[in-house]
Amino acid sequence: MSMVVQKFGGTSVADLDRIRRVARRIKETREQGHDVVVVVSARSGVTNRLVADARALYPNPDARELDMLLAVGEQETIALMALALHAIGVPAVSRTGAQAEIVTDPEHTRARIVRIGGGDIQEQIAAGKVVIVAGFQGVTTIGQTTTFGRGGSDLTAIALASALNAGLCQIFTDVDGVYTADPRVVANARKLGEVTYDEMLELASMGSKVMQSRSVEFAKKHGVLFEVRSSFNNNPGTIVKEEISSMEDVVVRGVAVDKNQVKVAISDLPDQPGTAARVFQNLADADVNVDMIVQNIGRGGVANLTFTVSIDDAYRAERAVGSVIEQFGSGTVSISDRIAKVSVVGVGMRSHSGVAASLFTALAETGINIQLISTSEIKISVAIDVARADDAARVAHDAFNLGASEAT
Ligand code: ADP
Ligand code: ASP
Ligand code: MG
Repeated sequence: MSMVVQKFGGTSVADLDRIRRVARRIKETREQGHDVVVVVSARSGVTNRLVADARALYPNPDARELDMLLAVGEQETIALMALALHAIGVPAVSRTGAQAEIVTDPEHTRARIVRIGGGDIQEQIAAGKVVIVAGFQGVTTIGQTTTFGRGGSDLTAIALASALNAGLCQIFTDVDGVYTADPRVVANARKLGEVTYDEMLELASMGSKVMQSRSVEFAKKHGVLFEVRSSFNNNPGTIVKEEISSMEDVVVRGVAVDKNQVKVAISDLPDQPGTAARVFQNLADADVNVDMIVQNIGRGGVANLTFTVSIDDAYRAERAVGSVIEQFGSGTVSISDRIAKVSVVGVGMRSHSGVAASLFTALAETGINIQLISTSEIKISVAIDVARADDAARVAHDAFNLGASEAT
């Protein structure tokens, strides 16, 4: 029998009725002759509420304690799902991340998986049971509970599918699949039939929260074929897979928006070899992800550096930059208010020109000012005023006719 890993996100398990509905869906999959391993998220709103409670008690909560708290959300869902399956006659057992031996490094709140032992999943499957694994959580080699960063249940599902050699990994969510843009922002966004790992990775890391970016990275690295589809209907979803040559015919596949960015500006740094290296080494050591770097040379032998980071990394970035400035003996750092990053993504950009020009023209015609620009082989991003982010997404989407015809 072939094994399927099915992951259900927060909205799909939000209340008891939805949990019952998911249980029926799992039962159907089993009746089609599959062994089923299920991964579930916390019920929608639960993780946010736990984070808010922690911050209300202490604004900068200890990461280990936060993990102890956040892991509770998923643990609630696995037990409820097991019971919902029992109620319809399906043998099922729940397993925490630790019980499934999802071993991680000790980086609390953003841990990386180092090994999946699986615990007794195979035995339970062989005994005819559905195994329900808590998403988003793992355990260190010394037994500490860790979590994988927001949206991390996707990673649990992909990594388990890889470790268990499942034939298919299905990510069930509250939209029909991966769209050309967030369908809640861009009304005429279209569902994509297929998308490459690289495109999905860029979309996810640029802010499309439909998939956690680290889960896509993992899937690409380990060749895990997966689909994203709705838990509310049976419509075909989006297949995420290796690129085939005809996929380059589409220049821009989708638009992503990230409204949780800030700009870090460092002025009056010494203009000499090694300055940038030291600044970015310190940021890397602090595990800060940097994008959209611009350097300009001022008068009098000083350099100015500007870059963007996620708002979650702003504090660590400021501290890391502060310590280099001290070593240099010159420089000042300032952090902007929240800004937005809007990106257009497509593997076809490798072989087509003019994408940047079309994007910048469309934004200019709408009166949207570009603050910073960055590009990769298959992506162009601009930093803009957060208040114009949704407008920019719609304008970019129209500029590349993404809503006009089937985009796959
Ligand atoms: P889950 O709880 O199932 O993990 P998420 O809320 O994490 O679901 O992700 C699904 C949401 O992602 C959708 O409701 C949608 O608003 C948003 N989203 C953003 N960009 C896209 C996109 N390109 N395609 C589909 N959904 C997107
Ligand atoms: N519950 C976690 C979150 O809200 C993980 C997930 O839903 O994937 O981020
Ligand atoms: Mg999610």
